[in-house]
Amino acid sequence: MFNSENEDMDEIFDVVVVGCGVAGLSAAVSAAQRGLNVCVLERATRDERGGQSRYTEAYLRMKSLDEVADDFEEHLAENTGRYMDPDLMAEMALDRASWSQITRSLAVADADVLSTFATQVPEAVQWLRGMGVRFDFLPTQFLTSSQPRLLPVGGGEAMVETLATQAEALGVTFHYECTARDLVFDTHGAVAGVWAWKRNAGRRRYAGTVVLASGGFEGNPEMLAHYLGPRSVYLRPVCKGGYYNKGEGIAMALRAGAAPAPRRAAISVVTTRSPSTRAPAYRSRPCSCSRTGSSSTSRDAASPTKRPAPSTPGTNGSRAESTSRTRASRMSFSTSA
Ligand SMILES: Cc1cc2nc3c(=O)[nH]c(=O)nc-3n(C[C@H](O)[C@H](O)[C@H](O)COP(=O)(O)OP(=O)(O)OC[C@H]3O[C@@H](n4cnc5c(N)ncnc54)[C@H](O)[C@@H]3O)c2cc1C
Repeated sequence: MFNSENEDMDEIFDVVVVGCGVAGLSAAVSAAQRGLNVCVLERATRDERGGQSRYTEAYLRMKSLDEVADDFEEHLAENTGRYMDPDLMAEMALDRASWSQITRSLAVADADVLSTFATQVPEAVQWLRGMGVRFDFLPTQFLTSSQPRLLPVGGGEAMVETLATQAEALGVTFHYECTARDLVFDTHGAVAGVWAWKRNAGRRRYAGTVVLASGGFEGNPEMLAHYLGPRSVYLRPVCKGGYYNKGEGIAMALRAGAAPAPRRAAISVVTTRSPSTRAPAYRSRPCSCSRTGSSSTSRDAASPTKRPAPSTPGTNGSRAESTSRTRASRMSFSTSA
């Protein structure tokens, strides 16, 4: 991964993973198993690694070790992609290669993705079992449940610790108390690494192919207010691991041009707020999404490579966006879990 453009980086890897939950650890172990030189950046301490994954029971909708539950794909499909424009739906029935840009960026359940997911879940379970994670049909907390649930013995913590131990054995470098702040771009505009703030070391730049696996924004009141509305002041993360998730990964991906999902698809609260009580538009300013971050000005100054921030949800002021937001804000809706 070394080239003349990243010689001023502090450390150089093939892959830099941001986040040490099940997603990040799975990516790190997979890459290390392929012989790549991998680094994991994690905001928490080693003892608290694992984010929300550490606290989940990790119920899996599976009826056996190699079969997903009967309602698996149907359930996922039913919980996303409401109120679709019929023209866009028709386009989705065609070959993916022919989809327009707007259809590609829709926050809907892509049938191909769902089907690939359902097909590959047994393989993923088998992969985890190969590392020592045991699975069983243990009793669940559900009062009613129409489908069985397979779960790892020891819950998410067992998966986190097994994967992290495996990663350590494969030589993955872990930087704890190290918060990724922004992407680093090369002179062609391609992502070349991450810059982060590490306790007792300050600003560090890590070169490599970047995997953003830093969870959601459960621990960021500003983003919660922006995306869920002012009543999110009454919300708190469902577990301690959520406090570490402040949404930097999402914000940096949006700044790099990731397609934002329509808010209503991401919302899981019931709201009847009127447009006048809407939260102010969330601006994806560098670092504005982190309580621990510096101000946007200081971040700009510290950022190794500046790029113009692409428009983000709520900032472009487009009529379509504002119309759909207005419509959404007048609607009552809930997305079942
Ligand atoms: C109580 C509970 C029960 C659940 N039950 C189920 C269930 O039964 N079945 C199911 O399928 N799912 C369940 N879930 C959801 C599931 O646990 C999550 O979807 C999954 O763990 C998310 O994994 P992740 O790796 O994407 O994120 P996380 O596990 O949250 O990991 C994100 C990591 O990124 C780190 N991080 C964040 N920002 C930065 C940064 N800027 N720099 C460096 N590091 C950063 C965090 O410290 C954290 O370690 C449950 C969740 C909870 C909380």
